[in-house]
Amino acid sequence: MSYLTHLECSHCHQQIAADQLQRLCPDCQLPLLARYDLTRARGELDRDALPNRPATLWRYRELLPVRDPHHIISLGEGGNPVLHAPRLGNLLGLNQLFIKDEGQNPTGSFKALGLSAAVSRAIELGVQEFVIPTAGNAGGALASYAARAGVPAHIFMPRDAQRIIQQEVRVTGADLQLVDGLITDAGRHAAAAAAEFGWFDVSTLKEPYRLEGKKIMGYEVAAAFDWTLPEVIIYPTGGGTGLIGMWKAFAELAQLGWIHGPRPKMVAVQSEGCAPVVKAFHEGAEETSFWDNATTLAGGLRVPAAVGGRLMLQTLRESQGTAVTVSDQEMQAAQKLLAGAEGIFAGMEAAATVAGLQTLVEGGWLEPDQRIVLFNTGSGLKQDHF
Ligand SMILES: *Cc1c(COP(=O)(O)O)cnc(C)c1O
Ligand SMILES: [Zn+2]
Repeated sequence: MSYLTHLECSHCHQQIAADQLQRLCPDCQLPLLARYDLTRARGELDRDALPNRPATLWRYRELLPVRDPHHIISLGEGGNPVLHAPRLGNLLGLNQLFIKDEGQNPTGSFKALGLSAAVSRAIELGVQEFVIPTAGNAGGALASYAARAGVPAHIFMPRDAQRIIQQEVRVTGADLQLVDGLITDAGRHAAAAAAEFGWFDVSTLKEPYRLEGKKIMGYEVAAAFDWTLPEVIIYPTGGGTGLIGMWKAFAELAQLGWIHGPRPKMVAVQSEGCAPVVKAFHEGAEETSFWDNATTLAGGLRVPAAVGGRLMLQTLRESQGTAVTVSDQEMQAAQKLLAGAEGIFAGMEAAATVAGLQTLVEGGWLEPDQRIVLFNTGSGLKQDHF
């Protein structure tokens, strides 16, 4: 059922076996990317027959890593709409503005896509107990998918994360460990626990398959535009899986012969209080560096260090995109602007893309007729700090 062939190190490009548990490249300690036999898929898979399948992540199952469909752990994630946003567009002088609404996912955020893929594949490869460090939403998603799979999960989360997300974890019966500090501190605790107890650590990009779930957003954008791509994608960037995943998807789609022509400019939006990717991008650096004293209301953007730093910067540069910061005040105003104009109650992270869009419009970086897609990565209903 899957065309998965092997894993490839994103840095040294060595091939690694895919049918056993893997995390980072053993030599580089950098992310591994799943590779598929796309030549065979191109000959056998009919893009135009896909709409006959249910509109979920798993519509694209041959391009996801799970070999036996019995191992799929699903809550109906994926298949979310690309909504035209004419009233918001009008306010900003843009004629073709769209919002990909991932706030409609189970668990209220797009973390569901990555965790459905990663948990399913890990279960297939024999994992019986999971651990994750999280800023919030990834923990809620792991707790939910682990419950759905009937296996235990351990969630390391900053003590000041949204209360509603803490409750989302607790209600599943998962083990919630509140940590003093940020996601990076939670990461140290999770890694130590994984080593001590043999739990499988599904940290962002430290195993190869959360990325595969998130890449499907790129497939869905292409399908929504009838197998063309928009000119600009604006993405609220933390660990970067969506950014990197969609860029990977566009390369796969071209190899499949499902899309032709130019790819979008990819834009990363971060908070002024935590902007390692924006800083490295404008400095011309190849790697991000640790952001001290990270602080922002957008929990998903409070990521001071990411193992995918290089890949994010490559994506922004190859796509001729850019990177911008916004303040927490701008996000708060943008959250209201979006809800008032379009009826979409997005979390602070997605509000950041609206604020970033305003900055790009003011700076003359966008053209009025470009098709621009913002990502609502998570619902405002998961927020109880305002
Ligand atoms: C995790 C998260 C992000 C950041 O996503 P990455 O793909 O890790 O960059 C953005 N928004 C929300 C709502 C999140 O939960
Ligand atoms: Zn390597």
